[in-house]
Amino acid sequence: MSASPQPAKAVPVATPVTKPFWEGTAAGELRLQHCGACQHRFLYPRIRCPKCGSDRLDWVKASGRGRLYSYVINHMAAPGWQGEVPYVIAVVQLEEGVRMLSNLVGITPDPDSLELDMPLEVVFETRGNMTLPLFKSAAASKGASK
Ligand SMILES: [Zn+2]
Repeated sequence: MSASPQPAKAVPVATPVTKPFWEGTAAGELRLQHCGACQHRFLYPRIRCPKCGSDRLDWVKASGRGRLYSYVINHMAAPGWQGEVPYVIAVVQLEEGVRMLSNLVGITPDPDSLELDMPLEVVFETRGNMTLPLFKSAAASKGASK
């Protein structure tokens, strides 16, 4: 049996298709899938390009910068949820044009603190043996050294 500590919050489980993505987050990189046939970039990880169907896929490193495209503030803990509520579930539009689902951290989960199109940047949080890509305000990080 593994002696790894039980993470306080639910964590995803890597599959053969998603493993390169999670290896990226563990290395501090946000990775996107890239199609060698049509140059389309996308998430979530798939075995074929959603645009042209090619299986000539590889992985590229994203900048980690994006903007808040949409969000919902979740006030109700799901069964088994051990994190705090409320929290922000966000759709982040990455610089590369890819949209991904994540959580926002370091931002008050209140509409007054959340402005659509606000600049965001990825931060990584380790839970158990997985490292999750979360997002924080990029504007708030400038000049804030605490
Ligand atoms: Zn393609």
